[in-house]
Amino acid sequence: MTGPRGRLLVLDDDEAVAATIALVAETSGFEVATAAGFDAFWTALHAFAPTHVTLDLSMPEVDGIVVLQRLAKDGYDGTVIVCSGLDRRVLEAAQRSALEHGLEGVGLLPKPFLPADLRALLDAPVERRARGRSGATSIGESALRAVLAERRLEVAYQPKVDCATGEVVGFEALARWNEPGVGPVPPDVFVPMAERLGLVDALTEQVLNEALAWFARAEAGARTHLAVNLSARSLDDVALADRIERACAAHGVAPQRVVLELTETASSSDPIAAHDVLTRFRIKGLALSIDDFGTGHSTLVQLARRPFSELKIDRQFVADAATSRESRVIVRAMLGLAHGLGLVATAEGVEDAATLAFLAEVGCDRAQGYHIGRPMAADALPAWASAWAQRPRPGSSVEPGT
Ligand code: C2E
Ligand code: CA
Ligand code: CA
Repeated sequence: MTGPRGRLLVLDDDEAVAATIALVAETSGFEVATAAGFDAFWTALHAFAPTHVTLDLSMPEVDGIVVLQRLAKDGYDGTVIVCSGLDRRVLEAAQRSALEHGLEGVGLLPKPFLPADLRALLDAPVERRARGRSGATSIGESALRAVLAERRLEVAYQPKVDCATGEVVGFEALARWNEPGVGPVPPDVFVPMAERLGLVDALTEQVLNEALAWFARAEAGARTHLAVNLSARSLDDVALADRIERACAAHGVAPQRVVLELTETASSSDPIAAHDVLTRFRIKGLALSIDDFGTGHSTLVQLARRPFSELKIDRQFVADAATSRESRVIVRAMLGLAHGLGLVATAEGVEDAATLAFLAEVGCDRAQGYHIGRPMAADALPAWASAWAQRPRPGSSVEPGT
């Protein structure tokens, strides 16, 4: 082997711990420097240019959060391993704040630790997070007006499956805007913009009609459903339910096969009108889903008062359910709520097999996420469906552990 596998900088005020970490790292082929205080750490960070950093959360002169903030500000892009004897929840909170500050590859090492735990973290590849999701795009109002007027919005479909059987149960329609010369504009950018400009009804109408036309064609004989996102801004309009009903009829799709997904119904300017609109949806046979449940926008008050038929557990709780005990507790509680109220529970943001196995085990009804299928153009769905049908089943090969 030539040269070290990496350079590790250890920040820990406990010399014995620092020496243990150094020893494990050196036997794994790392070059190691240690620092007992913040100033020494800072100097070494620039002089030694570490690929990996371990830091103790609680130290006498400075706490780990301040160090994480400084590392992020400094643009440090190596692996960060946070170690501490504090409660695991404190460690996970520190990890979350590191990720929110934009650091990458943040691992946790609860003390006391085994050499193997540290080795695994040193060996883990740094997961690069997609950057610039919101910052990259600057697109104007006139471009949005044009794409709507010219009906150039496209729709991507993301499959939803039954957690227990893996059977495809439905598809969520997601708006896509690919602007020539600019590239894809994320819905997180243009949907709020359409809401601000009073254009969201036009957006919904286009997505709904495009999606219904596809669904009527492709899923005619199936038992699947089509989910469409609605903006809370649209709920002031009592005639919305009639328009959606007419659109379903025009495409020959039974309203019972359509799910309307909603967040923050409370923010519509007229909550009484909104309530009437939601109730009318249900009377017409449309299903109603409370989206992003567990975030500030989708609250218990709404869940209790509005006539929802499905609860979508927000992806922030699902994404790390396999690794975070706290998220698992929250997911279980949400399932209890959903089922206690007679709602179907759907987990979104399922990114790996272990999470899907956990969801099946705890009785979640449906799942959606990159592990199952990304949102895709309609013509990519048949190939996805046959690949999904041939996926390795749990039990047939590797069984995820409990
Ligand atoms: P949403 O309704 O919560 O949609 C799910 C979002 O999660 C989608 O982002 C989807 O691509 C993403 N997603 C799905 N699986 C995974 C996963 O495993 N991991 C991760 N990290 N993400 C996953 P997208 O398409 O960017 O849409 C963002 C939001 O924009 C939607 O969130 C929805 O609130 C809004 N939106 C999209 N299309 C429409 C629309 O036609 N009308 C309205 N009113 N809002 C829309
Ligand atoms: Ca949604
Ligand atoms: Ca959602």
